[in-house]
Amino acid sequence: MNIDAVKGMNDILPKQIHIWQKIETIVKDVLMRFCFDEIRMPILEYTNLFARSIGEVTDIVSKEMFTFEDRLGKASYSLRPEGTAGCVRACVQHSLIANNQQQKLWYMGSMFRYERPQKGRYRQFHQLGVETFNVAGVNAELEQLLLMQNILQILNIEENVTLKINSIGNFATRNNYKQALVEYLMPYHDELDPDSQNRLKHNPLRILDSKIEKTQEILLNAPKITEFLGAESLAHYMQLKQSLTQLNIKFIEDHKLVRGLDYYNDTVFEWVSNDLGSQNAIGGGGRYDGLGTIIGNMDVKASGFAIGLERLLLVYMAKFGGEKLLDQNHAYLICSGESDTIKLLLAAKIRNICPNIKLDICMQDALGFKAQFKKADKVGAAVALIIGADELANNSITVKFLRDSEKQQITIPFNELNKHLQEIQ
Ligand code: AMP
Repeated sequence: MNIDAVKGMNDILPKQIHIWQKIETIVKDVLMRFCFDEIRMPILEYTNLFARSIGEVTDIVSKEMFTFEDRLGKASYSLRPEGTAGCVRACVQHSLIANNQQQKLWYMGSMFRYERPQKGRYRQFHQLGVETFNVAGVNAELEQLLLMQNILQILNIEENVTLKINSIGNFATRNNYKQALVEYLMPYHDELDPDSQNRLKHNPLRILDSKIEKTQEILLNAPKITEFLGAESLAHYMQLKQSLTQLNIKFIEDHKLVRGLDYYNDTVFEWVSNDLGSQNAIGGGGRYDGLGTIIGNMDVKASGFAIGLERLLLVYMAKFGGEKLLDQNHAYLICSGESDTIKLLLAAKIRNICPNIKLDICMQDALGFKAQFKKADKVGAAVALIIGADELANNSITVKFLRDSEKQQITIPFNELNKHLQEIQ
């Protein structure tokens, strides 16, 4: 029997990779222009890092982590379900955020959650994470929201994505609110879905996220968390909204937005899209000023967000499809009757004198011209570079445009190839 990939874990195949690379390149370019630095953390951490930071009663920690012990049964490890905890751990360990040092960091990589796979939800998926440390005011959040707006604009999908914001205040706000919410919901206990009934005891805030219609109906008149905000949190939230308007960043307020991780305070936000089906969040984040204390006994103001790259791709492809664009620099070398070694040698010479082109070559011996042209077409080459017996004798090369019948085939001296290709592109 064949062995397939683990359920919920996907291969990203060559025919899809160009779209990943395109999006990754755009994202990295924007991050660079906003002066964020890359950090790479291990994908495996001690389990208690996640338990302590994300929260024991959250769905992620209580049922979604891939956790295992070492061979001696002495330590418990987990594949990272998200990047913030590991990033803060690394910053504490390497003294990057002590003494109020400002840091603006990003990472991109695989995350793992044992969830039921469906469109847009996998057990291994990829996130871009962005974190800003030691900026207390709303500027940290605002810069990150501008950064994401910029990414969406460059990808031309800004109109397909909605930003939702909320404030969940401080620890006391959430405690008072939890109590009020439970008091409000208790009389409806038997009408709630079983999941929400269970959450009433352990994690009542997550009931707000319920996708069950009846539960959402009951929640219509529930108290709102913003009614419980203290003066400082309220001021922060008002400032955020005012600045977003000034910066021309469209948003809607969603008082039911609480996010699934325990470490947030004050600002929370999420980007959603109608192009995604039921898993409609592309990404989200917020402020998490308490995490430095939990992980490193350090008072660090912080704000961050994570984007699910699979979902960003889904939104992009829903609008533009996944077609590979014709790559003008893609050339194919076609030779007559030469041995493989001579072909490889000619290809190496072309790659040397034309550093900007991508050069393919037929690896099968003794294929006729016609068959080689077919191969050039199949790989999507824009240009065929032909070296037959005449060209070899005259030290020349023939350039034929495979996708543009208006451009004439031309034979030129071999060492003028680069100049010629640049001129006609
Ligand atoms: P979270 O860390 O839960 O706030 O998730 C941030 C983003 O990661 C989400 O908005 C999704 O785009 C993405 N994401 C989270 N879980 C999954 C998953 N199981 N499969 C694919 N993407 C996910």
